Amino acid sequence: MAAAAEAAGLKYDAVESIPQINKELRAAFLTGKTRSIEYRQNQLKQLAFMLQDNEDAFCEALNKDLGRHKFESMFAELMTTITEAVEAVHSVKSWAKKEKVSPGLAWGFHNPHVRREPKGTVLILGAWNYPLTVQIGPLIGAIAAGNTCVLKPSEVSAHSAKLISDLFPKYLDPECYRAVNGGIPQSTALLDCRWEHILYTGNGTVGRIVAEKAAKWLCPTTLELGGKSPTWVDETADLPIAAKRILWGKQFNVGQTCVAPDYVLCTKKVQSQLVAEFKKAADQFWPKGQEAATDQQSKMVNEGHWKRVKGMLEGTNGKIVLGGPPEDNKSQSRAFPLVVVSDVKPDDSIMTGEIFGPVLPIVAVQNVDEAIQFINSRDQPLALYSFSANSDKLIENCRSGGVLTGDILLHNAVGSLPFGGTGPSGYGAYHGKWGFDEFSHKRAVLEAPHRGIMGHAVEMLMKGRYPPYNIKNLSM
Ligand code: NAD
Repeated sequence: MAAAAEAAGLKYDAVESIPQINKELRAAFLTGKTRSIEYRQNQLKQLAFMLQDNEDAFCEALNKDLGRHKFESMFAELMTTITEAVEAVHSVKSWAKKEKVSPGLAWGFHNPHVRREPKGTVLILGAWNYPLTVQIGPLIGAIAAGNTCVLKPSEVSAHSAKLISDLFPKYLDPECYRAVNGGIPQSTALLDCRWEHILYTGNGTVGRIVAEKAAKWLCPTTLELGGKSPTWVDETADLPIAAKRILWGKQFNVGQTCVAPDYVLCTKKVQSQLVAEFKKAADQFWPKGQEAATDQQSKMVNEGHWKRVKGMLEGTNGKIVLGGPPEDNKSQSRAFPLVVVSDVKPDDSIMTGEIFGPVLPIVAVQNVDEAIQFINSRDQPLALYSFSANSDKLIENCRSGGVLTGDILLHNAVGSLPFGGTGPSGYGAYHGKWGFDEFSHKRAVLEAPHRGIMGHAVEMLMKGRYPPYNIKNLSM
């Protein structure tokens, strides 16, 4: 068992018990109890109560896992997730309504429509960086759509995983919703079972394992992955505002955010002005310096990630213009001050993979065309940010999971927008109705009149389909 789990008192489920859990949840689905809208609303309410009643306990667990300030946990996890669950309670009835579709000229008597139906028994595998948002968040869509579900919290954020697992049976129907804990053996055993949908949040390497395992059962997957999300800033931007927002977005959860601004692209001229504004913003955020503000800043989740980011930073040939790498982690505090690095070359150590830590490289380019080329020469990112009076050219010529102009991270908080990647940043999307749809089967229904006057009328109209075939009948 991992050290984090031991420290948190998190018990792993026995690998052998996992097929039985899957079997029980599949049987519970077939009883039909999750199909009623009232049942779903009740479970969604219970989920909201679970978070609300235990706000302090969640903030404490998140603080133990990530050294987070309560403000960040309330802002980015509890408030958004509770709001989303409550919105789902109010909206699920209309989301689940039959959708009439246009019959066209030929099918006017057949009442074509779409039913959004639960897929069955689904699996959610979560990541550690926002244990509520990326674990409970998708569960809202799964419950609203009427599925039974297993949630596998990340073992890395072990205190949060333990709290979720302790509270689950107290608030949710244990016949239909279960939390399963463990590391790779438990995840693998879960992936070997048959599900009707798997939503995985994490890195692309494991994402590929998930998709391969799911293929055995022809099980659809949603992969919520990461990547290097660029931020374009040009001379038309209000640089003091841009600098504050970018710095805020990067320091949030010390950069351990899938949609964190990974790096900045701008011209040399903008770079020097932006660096000056970053320094002013940092002085406002942390008036006595970052070292004196460690209670305000989240921490790296564990020593491994702390070392990984430090190693990336040690390899840089860029110029450190704000903050500096921490000396060591002897205090085991996992604190890592925000570092801004200017004049970074495209092949620099901090430009190779997703940073997922508080390091912000600035890469100078000649103009927006070179910025577009730069972005297009790399994997499609999860987010694309732009601070400019005219962002259209960038948006139209680059692909990304989502786009936000004039700010950082916030598109993720708008429940009516789909949240998901494209290409290597993942596929599928959730949040609000998008999550409900992701976990629903869109069942096509056509009701052909076949009795009484209408049945006979339609029979007359369509009689030319029967053998012996006559090609002239097609021109009716
Ligand atoms: P992680 O280590 O917590 O792993 C996620 C889940 O995968 C865990 O439940 C874990 O048990 C399981 N897992 C790990 N290795 C496995 C294996 N070999 N086989 C089967 N299951 C396995 O999370 P992580 O990957 O370190 O998360 C960080 C990444 O997640 C970053 O790239 C980040 O950008 C991305 N992320 C994406 C989103 C999004 O919504 N798109 C949100 C958060 C994080």
